[in-house]
Amino acid sequence: MKANVKKFLEETFIELIENKVAIRLERKKIIKYGEGGVEKVSGFYNDEPKEFAVGMAKPQSEWLEVYAHEFCHFKQAREKVKVWTSNVSDKLDDWLEKKIMLTKSELRKVLNACKDVELDCEYRTVDMIRKYQLDNVINIERYCQKANCYVLYYNVVGIMKEWYKRPPYEFPELIDMMPKKLITNHKKRYRKFENGVIKKCY
Ligand SMILES: [Zn+2]
Repeated sequence: MKANVKKFLEETFIELIENKVAIRLERKKIIKYGEGGVEKVSGFYNDEPKEFAVGMAKPQSEWLEVYAHEFCHFKQAREKVKVWTSNVSDKLDDWLEKKIMLTKSELRKVLNACKDVELDCEYRTVDMIRKYQLDNVINIERYCQKANCYVLYYNVVGIMKEWYKRPPYEFPELIDMMPKKLITNHKKRYRKFENGVIKKCY
């Protein structure tokens, strides 16, 4: 393991431990999230109870990206940033699990709030990759493309009313459709991408 990666992991691990976060590094590629476990994700950070989880059964560059991203969710929660405290992901989970109904405009609000949280997190993640010079392991341009994929994926959740079977950032042809810098406006629609996700990820 490269020295800067080690330093990054050590420092972030200590921060998680000091904040009494349960750390779950699983020997899996995809892990389940949410009460009903409907969402299959590469990792997650949950604030109540505090839990940080990453699926580690993949190349280092890939789990490291997920690790950095989820760590930045932890930072959002700790800093109580507005986008995080709105608690939207729980609302989306409840809607996906059909526990609650949402009108079209309520759903749009929830999805936009999810995209706000994720995009804020992605900007933090890219800063962190730069700070620890993790670009000797992670390709930043490619990371930004995958991040854009994930943020814009929420538009598809609204259309399909279901979580993906396979994540869009696992399909190179979908990643290729994305800008190489983080998007600034997540309300812009990428229809070709959305159609590609519907075809491949469900
Ligand atoms: Zn996230």
